[in-house]
Amino acid sequence: MEKCSSCKKQFPESTLKTMVHIIDRKAYIKKICPSCQSIVLNNPNYYYLGDEKKSQ
Ligand SMILES: [Zn+2]
Repeated sequence: MEKCSSCKKQFPESTLKTMVHIIDRKAYIKKICPSCQSIVLNNPNYYYLGDEKKSQ
């Protein structure tokens, strides 16, 4: 289980999407749960990470 960076709830690792949040030209790795993904997708400062590790 891992924490969603947005809502802070616990989710299984596989359901969380790794995203990049750009703040002041710095990139931060975020783990975003499915319900928060629809919110952050409307935020132009969030990007999907291209090289996603799916097996951990
Ligand atoms: Zn969330």
